[in-house]
Amino acid sequence: MKDCGENISRRSFLRRTAASVVGAGIGISAVTGKLTASGGEPEKEGGDNGAPSIKEYRKLGKTGWKVSDLGFGNAGMKDPALLEYAIDRGINYVDTARQYYDMEKVVGKLFPAKRDKVFVTTKLMPELITADVSEAEILGGIEESLKRLNTDYIDCCLIHSVGDPELGDRSRIENPAVASAFEKAIEQGKIRNWGASSHGPKMVDDFEWLLDNTSIDMIMPGMNMLTAGLGPVIEKASNRGVAVVAMKSLSAARKINYSAFMREGRTARQGLIKWMLAQPGIDTISITMTTFEQIDEYVEVSGRSDLTPEEEKVLEGYGMLLDRDYCRPGCDGCLGSCPHGLPIHDILRYNLYFDNYGREKYAIGRYARLPEGRKAGQCLNCPGYCESSCRYNLSVRSMMLRAHSNLTV
Ligand code: SF4
Ligand code: SF4
Repeated sequence: MKDCGENISRRSFLRRTAASVVGAGIGISAVTGKLTASGGEPEKEGGDNGAPSIKEYRKLGKTGWKVSDLGFGNAGMKDPALLEYAIDRGINYVDTARQYYDMEKVVGKLFPAKRDKVFVTTKLMPELITADVSEAEILGGIEESLKRLNTDYIDCCLIHSVGDPELGDRSRIENPAVASAFEKAIEQGKIRNWGASSHGPKMVDDFEWLLDNTSIDMIMPGMNMLTAGLGPVIEKASNRGVAVVAMKSLSAARKINYSAFMREGRTARQGLIKWMLAQPGIDTISITMTTFEQIDEYVEVSGRSDLTPEEEKVLEGYGMLLDRDYCRPGCDGCLGSCPHGLPIHDILRYNLYFDNYGREKYAIGRYARLPEGRKAGQCLNCPGYCESSCRYNLSVRSMMLRAHSNLTV
């Protein structure tokens, strides 16, 4: 991540970000062509009533599944009809988490009727995984998710948020009970695969450790056109048959007035998805979908990793606007610079949920859990030591103060 914080010309922006994300000379073929979903709906050439449908299914690592190139992220989904609609469009990958309030239960409302149509990934509570958690406690967490999902198996169960110092150091995942609990759950038929998700500052390090020391089947990194340094770990995972599911691919996107970016009937979000689909090693992208219109908008670019020169231009401008206003997933540049030890990456991420995702209540709730001394009110009387450490020259202090104002009730 040494290329952070450079002055970036408009011309070089896309080239630089793409190269830094995928790494040089990776040579992994992510695109598997038209396939029929394993255990899911056969591919449709056109949706009902002319609505768009998924055009491409990709091999999901060694899981034995071929999943839609766009996955349904259900954070914030209140109506199971949305997921039903997405399944009808050909989406057969669903991502949820125990931490998303009742979202597992909302998915479970479609089961058992739709159970064999989708590959379901859920994530255990982040705080459950600690240096001294027991196998039985992890198995208990899996049981809880099974009940909430109204199913007797989970296709993939993830450790939620590895590489986040706020949750603990590496000893969280080095605890031998962690791998043994997931392996036992597989033996018992309760889960079929396991892995880890992260957008934390140490995500690359922890994914590397898990790939080298355990039998994980999936990694789920936060990744988009503004992130950097993920190429080698994605390559390693792909080479080992470990599924790679990207998330946070549209994060920061909602700050922009999209109408200013409309070109040839396409939206900036569609451009961002196409950019992601072109990156090597990505099996599918988990995107939060909260309206029927969004599902149509996103599904329309399934199978479209071709960026036109016009779209590249649009994305260049778009990226330039976001470049100095977006705290990157997986970045640890300013860790240690704050005399109060504020979790800068977490606070700025909560504010993204508030500002950009329409998840105000969730964001306020997460912020409220921080002790007063670790909130961004501390920034009021600080000259902003963190700013000289930021790899991207962000105005960290003012971003923190804005977050504090948004998230304090
Ligand atoms: S401005 Fe805030 S986050 Fe930055 S060093 Fe000061 S107290 Fe820490
Ligand atoms: S504020 Fe800057 S250095 Fe700190 S985590 Fe965010 S992008 Fe990285």
